[in-house]
Amino acid sequence: MIEVIKNYVNGELTAPSSNNYIDVFEPATGKIYSHVPNSDDKDTDFAVSAAKKAFPVWSKHSIKTRSNYLLKLASEIKKDSEDLAFYESRDTGKPISLARRLDIPRAIENFTFFSDYTQNFTDYFTFESKDSKNHIQKSPLGVVACITPWNLPLYLLTWKIVPALIMGNTVVAKPSEITPYTAFKLAEICKRINLPPGVLNIINGSGDKVGKRITNHPDIKAISFTGGTETGGKIFSKASRTFKKLALEMGGKNPAIIFEDCNYDQMLETVIKSSFTNQGQICLCSSRLLIDESIYEKFKIDFCERVSKIRIGDPNDTETQFGAITSKPHFDKINHYINLIDKENGSILVGGNIKKMDNRCEKGWFIEPTVVEGLGIDSQLNKDEIFGPIVTLQTFSSEEGVIKLANKTKYGLSATIWSEDISKANRVAEKIDSGVIWINCWMVRDLRTPFGGLKQSGYGKEGGEDALRFFTEQKNICIQS
Ligand code: NAP
Repeated sequence: MIEVIKNYVNGELTAPSSNNYIDVFEPATGKIYSHVPNSDDKDTDFAVSAAKKAFPVWSKHSIKTRSNYLLKLASEIKKDSEDLAFYESRDTGKPISLARRLDIPRAIENFTFFSDYTQNFTDYFTFESKDSKNHIQKSPLGVVACITPWNLPLYLLTWKIVPALIMGNTVVAKPSEITPYTAFKLAEICKRINLPPGVLNIINGSGDKVGKRITNHPDIKAISFTGGTETGGKIFSKASRTFKKLALEMGGKNPAIIFEDCNYDQMLETVIKSSFTNQGQICLCSSRLLIDESIYEKFKIDFCERVSKIRIGDPNDTETQFGAITSKPHFDKINHYINLIDKENGSILVGGNIKKMDNRCEKGWFIEPTVVEGLGIDSQLNKDEIFGPIVTLQTFSSEEGVIKLANKTKYGLSATIWSEDISKANRVAEKIDSGVIWINCWMVRDLRTPFGGLKQSGYGKEGGEDALRFFTEQKNICIQS
């Protein structure tokens, strides 16, 4: 039976006013398994008014009280972890082992981290001088919106809503309609713990309808968005009319810089992961591997051998390392780039095919992890964000050369640098135009650190203090002494 997902507005699970729904597919089977509301302006406006009504009481609670509600949510998510991991894997096509290891634990950590981090937060501070005393008051913004993509659904939704709520804002959240299921389960959990009505509202639907209405709604004070650069640009230009605060986390074309003096085995192990985790559908994945020419041939052979052994399979199978592509349009987009390889004079070293699967997955959207060499710096494959399981190999022969190569992109999200010479690695890191740089590791996160891209990858930062500041307004009250 096809399950019907509901919106969560004013503490209730509700159908969209138009009664219109969008099909939700399981990527591993290519079959519809649920319907999600195709909400419109009326539904979005209803959610904003519920959030507005809830704001005066929620914002007056202490951080401790708000944090207690959020910790209850975390504890219920923990109890439901196994189910949530299954739902996340079914919705996205990622291996269940990844959802268990990454998505759900990190969603829980988003709650516990911000609860701990705000324990000593004060909502004012003062500056005194000989002729004045300035009292700076911090307050929540009001109703804020969180718009999230399909690759890490619960992980990224909670990364935004938790700091917003803990600082006293009320929230209208729009998950991607491609992967709405864990947000729906979160709504059920909110009901279970009696989160006050209107504090969090989850409106499902397309970016074209719900996203657009959020962007121009006069009562929404800020938007925290994660998604593609093109969408971020649209939000940027539309939201300026109502002077909303914006934090935009967008696309990337991330280099992995591999020097010949790296710890080779550790590098190989991690670069496989940084290239193909979640089928390459993590914004932080390495998509351009830049290799010291002195080790290029060895790297190419070893890397390709390892890639060819990645276990592609049914995401439900605990042994699977590499699952399905999350949507049919995205599957088509990746295939478009595979078809371009030959035209751009590239050579496929491994992969490059749609992966035919058996049984339950025979109609699923599977593409082999693909490694390409021989492409020009200005090829589409080296320039565009593909956001899938395709990596390109390029060589370099000098430090200056690789810095130029790494920075030759409009994006600036993340980079990894592999070298045992830490002063060289640091020197290179300082010159790479990326907001998140890892030396000899990947995806190691301390949630206190600022997170976000440079250039066309980001506008504003998330994480730790930056997230709290984003969701807070400041006012200066000056008294003559
Ligand atoms: P997307 O198409 O930009 O969509 C992101 C969200 O925005 C979705 O909820 C989408 O709804 C909504 N949206 C679409 N058009 C909108 C509009 N005009 N106004 C307001 N909202 C709108 O991105 P995606 O394909 O879901 O995700 C992949 C992208 O996200 C990649 O570029 C990836 O690099 C990026 N990403 C970045 C980070 C980061 O931290 N920098 C993390 C993860 C992913 P619909 O689903 O209906 O289109």
